[in-house]
Amino acid sequence: MVTEPDQPDLWDTALAQLDDVAQRLHLDPGIHAILRQPERELTVSVPVMMDSGRIEVFTGYRIQHSSARGPCKGGFRYHPAVTLNEVKALAMLMTWKSAVVGIPYGGAKGGVRCEPMEMSQGEICRLTRRFTVMIRPIIGPKQDIPAPDINTDPQVMAWMTDTISMIEGQSALATTTGKPIPLGGSVGRTEATGRGVAITTRQLLKRMGQDLSETTVAVQGYGNVGQASATILRDMGCKIVAVSDVTGGLYNPHGLDIAAINRHVAAHPHHLLEGYAGPDVEHITNAELLVADVDVLIPAAVEHQIHERNAPRIRARWVVEAANGPTTREADDILRDRGIIVVPDILANAGGVVVSYFEWVQDLQVFFWDKAEVNHNLERTMVRAFEEVWDFSHEKGLPLRLGANMLAVGRVADVVKMRGIFP
Ligand code: NAD
Repeated sequence: MVTEPDQPDLWDTALAQLDDVAQRLHLDPGIHAILRQPERELTVSVPVMMDSGRIEVFTGYRIQHSSARGPCKGGFRYHPAVTLNEVKALAMLMTWKSAVVGIPYGGAKGGVRCEPMEMSQGEICRLTRRFTVMIRPIIGPKQDIPAPDINTDPQVMAWMTDTISMIEGQSALATTTGKPIPLGGSVGRTEATGRGVAITTRQLLKRMGQDLSETTVAVQGYGNVGQASATILRDMGCKIVAVSDVTGGLYNPHGLDIAAINRHVAAHPHHLLEGYAGPDVEHITNAELLVADVDVLIPAAVEHQIHERNAPRIRARWVVEAANGPTTREADDILRDRGIIVVPDILANAGGVVVSYFEWVQDLQVFFWDKAEVNHNLERTMVRAFEEVWDFSHEKGLPLRLGANMLAVGRVADVVKMRGIFP
């Protein structure tokens, strides 16, 4: 989310990763040059009448990195730290994420620089509707399909979908994903990212010959993704010994009572762990959670949490990246040298975009699946993607991140080559 001043720019990191992969794949320099730039960048100014009667003008972006493998796909964030470079980097990562799990999408991302915590629902609604109109020329079910991201939710998607539908005078359900279920949303979408994290963790442990019932897990970030990851891994038999959010962490080496914690979070006005007091629970800091003595560490909060200062002290044997970009490049090198296996974000947290793809398919067919069918198809997709990345990486003797990036970039490059250059 917010890039600390001493952190490298996310776009520079994304380009450096692509350049490394392009060299290893001996990519044609022309194709490499195409992939280094987004296909389309749209910057808009969005005037909004605030509740006070004052007009405020916000800056918004929609970046389409690649449509080679299908319509562009990616979320929208509302945050004061949104920058063009951050959105460009996240759009590129979406291209790789869709390719690594083999769904027929390209990559996009969008955002508006604003502070939604200080805005009323009415102001957020007016911002969303005007922003939707400004980017409408480039979005649509066959062009670019928005979804929620940081500080945007199913309600924001409902306003976006309604705006398009009112302007076009027709149903526009397949224009967005992450919608409320009665408005063409998919069952299973809310917990899809966490379910995907749990499935990749389970596949990794299977490969390592590690019994789930003998595995301890720490989860940093107890929001949508962290909570679902912890709950589903608990259901699979793991012992969740530490969880945290912005207000701090909870630790119990014998296993936390996840059901009681979930009840507490549901009742808290801001859905936080703050104030939880279960039996034998020790309160720890986020810094302590990251270096806790566990088998699996799941960063599910924000970017750059694992850095060169704490990477040498991480005790987990396996790190599964539920958040986007939780590990800096320097920390990644340290973890690799220490023999700690990292399942990269573009693979581990792809469950959300996979079920967004299922939502779009259901909206286009106007025929809706039940939860069992959604979860079965998610399981199938995630297991196949994990096994492909694992086999490719092991054949080539590469860390999983590099293997995943090479597979993804290779798939996109192949399609760019097949299509040729128009005209
Ligand atoms: P969320 O807002 O629901 O939850 C974020 C959680 O992290 C909250 O519990 C918050 O208190 C905690 N947090 C924030 N800053 C923290 C910090 N500095 N230290 C510790 N905890 C902190 O967000 P989410 O949807 O769960 O997303 C979490 C991460 O997963 C993000 O990186 C997001 O980009 C990524 N992700 C989300 C999805 C999805 O479908 N929601 C899909 C792919 C990737």
